[in-house]
Order: sequence, then structure tokens, then C-alpha cells
Amino acid sequence: MLVSKESVLPIDRIKLSKSTKFEVDKLLLRSPKYFDEAAIQVKLGTSATHLDTASQNITLSSGEKLHYDKLLIATGADPRNFWPNSAAMNNVVVLRGFDDAAKLEAAVAANPKPRIVTVGSSFIAMEAAATFVKTAESVVVIGMEKVPFERVLGEKIGAAMQKLHEEKGVQFKMNAVVDTFETADGGASCSGLKLKTGEFIPADIVIIGAGVVPATAAFKTALNIEKDGSIVADEYLAVVGQQNIYIAGNFVSFPLPFACFNSYPQATLPASLTRTTRDRPIPTTSSASSTGAWHNSRAVSPPTTCSMASKSSPPCRTSGPTSMARASDTAATLSATMTSSSMATSTRSSLSPSSPVTSPKKY
Ligand SMILES: Cc1cc2nc3c(=O)[nH]c(=O)nc-3n(C[C@H](O)[C@H](O)[C@H](O)COP(=O)(O)OP(=O)(O)OC[C@H]3O[C@@H](n4cnc5c(N)ncnc54)[C@H](O)[C@@H]3O)c2cc1C
Repeated sequence: MLVSKESVLPIDRIKLSKSTKFEVDKLLLRSPKYFDEAAIQVKLGTSATHLDTASQNITLSSGEKLHYDKLLIATGADPRNFWPNSAAMNNVVVLRGFDDAAKLEAAVAANPKPRIVTVGSSFIAMEAAATFVKTAESVVVIGMEKVPFERVLGEKIGAAMQKLHEEKGVQFKMNAVVDTFETADGGASCSGLKLKTGEFIPADIVIIGAGVVPATAAFKTALNIEKDGSIVADEYLAVVGQQNIYIAGNFVSFPLPFACFNSYPQATLPASLTRTTRDRPIPTTSSASSTGAWHNSRAVSPPTTCSMASKSSPPCRTSGPTSMARASDTAATLSATMTSSSMATSTRSSLSPSSPVTSPKKY
């Protein structure tokens, strides 16, 4: 059983900031046929709202209770929006799911040559800016830092990225804080953004890419949630201190031996972990993991500190931006609850260090 609050089957959401047109069939990670053939029941448009570990039940937004033998929580992260009145505006998009992309596409259809403003100057906002600058009337990126990507990539690379985008026509308002989303039609749409300085930036479409928070609130009475919203797993991605509950994806904090590459004996690295290093940089220090050794670092700031001091240091613990987290995407696309024993078993084995971690199959 797969439960997801989204209206469509799991999609490859990274495509949402790299295009202006979205066909759900082309975004799906697995076809409907795959779910049928694998006998996976799917409940879409349904949230898990409560977890009872004693009875092994999950309560859903529909009121229904599901019993699980094994549970995988892979609820990812929710985008931040500090401007509540903007949510109802038909030309303001917080890009995370297919419905957000559909809203963006509708806004573009209504105004094919829009003045685009992005709130945020990290990955999602910058990708959207790069995408829209080819077709929009204008693109303005508003960022709080001195240069885009400053927090994750540093000032030098950020400045280079800004220059590259400026050469393509993207404009930047940096060191800027958005105060209000202005409206001229009673809140139906946004006419532009007022900065804290009082400056007004007109907009036809606003894309908010202001970071995310772990989507773990539904589990807070049942599980230990860290201060940053992450949940701690062991090397099998089992929730520490719990029976039959596994976690994967953006909010997971888990042991990461190769983050302490120099201090962790290579011989003890499970094959599955070493294999995941093939296609991305290996974080070798705690700062590597916290400065975005991999793109997902924007999702959750790792709570981890990685000790390089001692040869006998325990494995590091990190969350989100890691190879293992990405390697667990196969499981992570299956959003919330499993009751099927066979599926639970296969998930357990695919996450086990004794079996290699492989990329999700394409169907
Ligand atoms: C526009 C965009 C572009 C991106 N581009 C890149 C990129 O180029 N490279 C990269 O590495 N990363 C990129 N990312 C980040 C990447 O998509 C995430 O790191 C990844 O999707 C995280 O996977 P996940 O399974 O942890 O969570 P998600 O993909 O967020 O999946 C979680 C699922 O759980 C559902 N859910 C949440 N709460 C509940 C609940 N209570 N009950 C039921 N269902 C729930 C959600 O609706 C969602 O379907 C991008 C993200 C976005 C939004």
C-alpha cells in the first residue's frame, strides 16, 4: 500500500524547475501498470496524519486507519512560504509537486510573456530563472544573500553563477528581503512584491523557492524528531528505538561512514555504501556535507557534526544531502505506508548494506 498526499503517482520532481510544460506521463517514476503488476495499492490525495507505534496503525486524513507490519516513511520535505496570503494567489507558485507545476503552467498559459520574479536565489529559484529567461519578458531573482547560492556554494561560485545568469538576461536583487505580496484585485493575484526597503518589484508570475522543512510533523507524537525536524535512522534506515519502521529521503539523519573517509576504516564500509559514491562528490568533512556536497543539501541542514579527529570516531550522521539518501530514492518515491509484507521485505533487503544500492529501474 502506498499513501501519498499528492494527486498523481510519484513523479520525478526535479524536472519541475527545468521546464515550463509538464505532462504527468512524462514525469512519472513508475507507470500505473507497474503498480498494478506489482499489486501495490495506491491511495492518492491522502495524508498520513498520525502514527501509533504500539498498535502499528497509521491514521489517514480520510479518518481511515491502516495497520502495518512494516512501515516506510518517506514524506520528504515541505516548501517554506512565509507569506500566507500568497498561497491563494493564482500567479504565485511554491514549486514542489505536480499540482504546483500545473498551477505554473496555467499561469504561463494565461500570460505567455510574463514578468517572472523568483523569491529565493538557490537551486529551485535559479533553475526556474534559467528556464524562464528564454521565454519571459523579464526574470528577476530576489535573494537575501550577497550572491545567489552563497549559503551552499560560497561567495565566489555564487558570484560566477550570478554573472552567468546575468549574461543570459536574468536580473538580480540581492541583499533583499521580501516584505509583502501586493495585490490589485483583492488577493486573487499578485501584482508584485514589496521589499523591506519599500521598493516595489512588479510581477506577473512569482515562483517561491525559499527552502524546505522536513515533512515529519505527522509523526511527532510517535517518533523522536530532532530539533531540525529530521529523524534518526541506523545503517539499515530503521528508525532508532523503533520496531518495523523505516525512513528514507530528505528528512533522514543516518550514519555516513564515508563522510569521515579518513577516520573510518575502509574495510568496514559496506559495499552498498561505497558503490553509491560513483556519481557524486564524496563529502570528506562535516563542512562538505553542510555546504551542499550534493544538490539536496538545501532540503535539510545536516544536524551532523563529523569528527575527523579520531581514527576510532563513530560513523558520521547526516541528513538529506547524501549519496545514501539519494540511493534510497527507490524507496523514497513510495511515500508513506506499507502494509504488504512482501513489499516490506523487498524494501528492507534493498536498503540493507548486504545488497548493492542501485538506481531506480526505469519503466
Ligand atoms: C522543483 C525541484 C527541483 C529539484 N531539482 C533537483 C535536482 O536537480 N537535483 C537533486 O538532487 N534534487 C533536486 N530536487 C530535490 C529532490 O526533488 C528531493 O531531494 C527529493 O524529491 C526528495 O525525495 P523524498 O522522497 O525525500 O521526498 P519527496 O520527493 O518530497 O516525496 C515525499 C512524498 O511524500 C508525500 N507526503 C508528505 N507528507 C505526507 C503525509 N503526511 N502523508 C502522505 N504523503 C505525504 C509528498 O507529497 C511527496 O509525494 C528538486 C526539488 C524540487 C521541488
